[in-house]
Amino acid sequence: MKIAIYPGTFDPITNGHIDILKKATKIFDEVILAVASETGKDTIFSLDEREEICKVVTSSIKGIKIMKFDGLVVEFAKKMGAVTMIRGLRAISDFEYELSQALMNKKLYEKIETIFFVPDNKYLYLSSTMVRQVIKLGGSIKDLIPDCVEEALIKKMKYKKI
Ligand code: ADP
Repeated sequence: MKIAIYPGTFDPITNGHIDILKKATKIFDEVILAVASETGKDTIFSLDEREEICKVVTSSIKGIKIMKFDGLVVEFAKKMGAVTMIRGLRAISDFEYELSQALMNKKLYEKIETIFFVPDNKYLYLSSTMVRQVIKLGGSIKDLIPDCVEEALIKKMKYKKI
């Protein structure tokens, strides 16, 4: 069975992430969307919330599993029997960071290979950061995030008084 792991912060998951996930399921028997606990970023949603939102918005996609993890992603991949890591490549700005991550992961676990997927055009400049900023300023981006993600963000921002 070909298992791939798609790790990320998913704060929150966007249609860009979902696009990559769907593409990966066409190639792998099982794709594990792995929600990172420690990312070095301040997240708006807790780990459990990020995991739960990912579960809700991907419930209709076959061949995936949503899991959270902490520590090194390669250790989690090993534990899950995955030797392939999926990442998304958007604009050139992603390239350097993604390349260094892929090389470091390979150094930590030589069996791991990273495969990059390019999203559909409409998601090329979409990021979770951008989504949080637009929602914070009262904008609506309904075709870029699932409705329930938009609702959860608005609620969270009100609660946190952001
Ligand atoms: P991380 O903090 O690990 O970068 P993210 O949740 O921001 O986690 O992203 C996870 C992966 O998904 C990364 O490889 C990122 O480049 C990719 N990604 C994020 N947004 C998009 C998008 N709109 N289209 C394609 N890939 C994306």
